[in-house]
This record gives sequence, C-alpha cells and structure tokens, in this order.
Amino acid sequence: MENHSVDSTTTSNDRLPKLLAIDDSELIHKILRVRLQHEQLEILSACSGEEGIRMAKELRPEVILLDIELGDMTGFDVLQKLKSDPETRDIAVMLISAFSESIDRVRGLDLGAVDFITKPFEVIELTARVRSILRLQSAMHMLAVKAQIDGLTGLWNRKYFDARLDSEFSEGLRHGRPLSLIMTDIDKFKSLNDGYGHPFGDLVLERFARILSGGRSSDVACRYGGEEFGIVLPSTTLSEAHEVAERLRERLATEHWPRHEDLRVTASFGVADLTCIASNAMPRALVEAADRALYAAKHGGRNRVELASPESLSIRKSA
Ligand code: GH3
Ligand code: MG
Ligand code: MG
Ligand code: MG
Repeated sequence: MENHSVDSTTTSNDRLPKLLAIDDSELIHKILRVRLQHEQLEILSACSGEEGIRMAKELRPEVILLDIELGDMTGFDVLQKLKSDPETRDIAVMLISAFSESIDRVRGLDLGAVDFITKPFEVIELTARVRSILRLQSAMHMLAVKAQIDGLTGLWNRKYFDARLDSEFSEGLRHGRPLSLIMTDIDKFKSLNDGYGHPFGDLVLERFARILSGGRSSDVACRYGGEEFGIVLPSTTLSEAHEVAERLRERLATEHWPRHEDLRVTASFGVADLTCIASNAMPRALVEAADRALYAAKHGGRNRVELASPESLSIRKSA
C-alpha cells in the first residue's frame, strides 16, 4: 500500500527543503548563498516580486525570505498574492525589511507572514529562525498526516477516504480510466468481541488491516468505520477488483489466530466500479453501489464477494 504522504505538501526525506529568497539586491542573494551553504537547504533566488511569485508556484519552496522593498512591487503585495493562491498559501514567509517600524511588522504578520527580520541582520540569527520555521512545518505536516490515519490499524481514516475517493473519482473521469471500490465488513464481529474479548477483536482488526494493505502500491486501504473498510483501486476494472477482493477474502478466512486454533474469521465484500453508476453520478454513488453489493454478500450467507450490478441493470431493476 502507498505511504502515508500528503500529496504535494510532503517534504520527502530524500530532498533538501528549499528556501526561496525574493530580494532586488544581488548582494543579499550572494550573502545568503555563501553563508547558508552548509545548511541542509537548497537556496533559490528571485530578484523581483513577479519572478518570486512565479518561482514559488513552480518550485514550491518550504520557506520564502521576502524583502519588503522590491523594485516592481512591495513585499506586502507579493505576500498577499502568495496567501491568496491555494498553491502557495501554505508556504512559510519571513519578511525582511530595512525598517523596523512596528506598523510594518504588524501589517506583515497580519497578512500571514510567520516572521520578520530587519536588515542588516546577523546571518546566524536568520539561520536559526529558518531552522525553527522548518521544524514547525515538519511538525505541522506530521500532525496533518496523523489526523488522517486511524490509530488502531494505521490505515487511512474515513476523512482521508472521502477526500481521496473524490480526487480519484474526478481523475478517473477526466482521463477515462477505470476506478473500483471494494467495501468490506467483518462477519459476526460483535459475537467475536463478545466471545473472545474486545482486545482480541482489536487484534482481528489490526490483522485484517494488514491483509487489506498488502495489495498493489496504488491501492488505498482505509478504515471506513468500526469493522468496515474501503479500498479505493485506481486504474482497476470491476473484474480485476473482483479478483483482488476474492484473494483478500481467502486470506482472512484461512488466517490462524493465536490461542484459538480452530477459529475462522471471515468478512463479506462488495465491489463496484464506474460502470456500475450513472455517468453523471457523484463519488457517493460508488460507495452506495459497493455497499449494496456488500449487503447482498451478507444476505447471501457472508464470507463472499458480490459485484454491484451495472448501471443499466439497476435502472432496469428499479423500473
Ligand atoms: P455482520 O456479519 O452482519 O456484519 O455482523 P457484525 O456483528 O459484524 O455487525 P455489527 O454491526 O452488529 O457489529 C459490529 C461490532 O463491531 C460492534 C462494535 O462493538 C464492534 N467494533 C467497532 N469498532 C471496534 C473496535 O475498534 N474494536 C473492537 N474490538 N470492536 C469494534
Ligand atoms: Mg530591496
Ligand atoms: Mg460486521
Ligand atoms: Mg459493520
């Protein structure tokens, strides 16, 4: 299963964080490049506000050092533009000014800057402030990722599931690519809890989660809630997803459990893809179609996989 990384905001471990300096003074760029060369940073330079905004959009630096007195526009204008664009809104901006008027500081911070430093500055102080900004950012990034992960199983949670299904749904439609969804629910889980204890129930959830996340790296396994899970399978047809679900069902059903050798735990599965829903339907419809199939699997005796019927069939049925 894919790593828990949050799209473009991720700072991957194998690349240096980028610092973009936007300043009309060539001297500042030289000083920064020389004095920050031993920092774990990639230094980028822009000499005008316009160039700075363009580079910020293209290169997505972690931190921007922004001069207030620029040639083409003021740093405040640049800041405002960066903060009003969703693509650059989350970049930490530190303002640099030749003046230390508190009115400027207040204005800058109100516009969304995280820090403010006055020229001439000690590079050692600047460096320390940049480091502290980066630390804060990585902590915030970790928190953001954590907020989307289920604590017990380590899978993505419902909140992430909803967002990811939405984005895969529109991607699938835009590129005419298949998209499948597997919904699965552990059978008679309540009696498992009642008979073997809640901690054992938790162990079952953890193991099942591990089984569900063992598939293709592009598959997105999520804990939908309680003992129900959803797997979003981009670029996967209904029949391919059917095979996946069948394999997962088999793996859980043949799993051996500590201290309960004879116990067999099973789950039911419902599978749907884009061909099962109306062409103008919302992502929600895919969940509903897979859920209906899951319901049919429960009613058909559990420990089985059911496919959603194609849109044409369900129209015929309901007609
Ligand atoms: P069915 O085959 O129809 O799905 O029956 P079921 O017993 O699995 O379904 P039901 O929805 O009646 O019970 C689900 C149970 O899952 C009830 C709830 O206490 C339990 N459960 C939900 N979350 C957790 C959890 O985090 N840990 C444990 N141990 N149990 C949980
Ligand atoms: Mg200047
Ligand atoms: Mg259940
Ligand atoms: Mg349930």
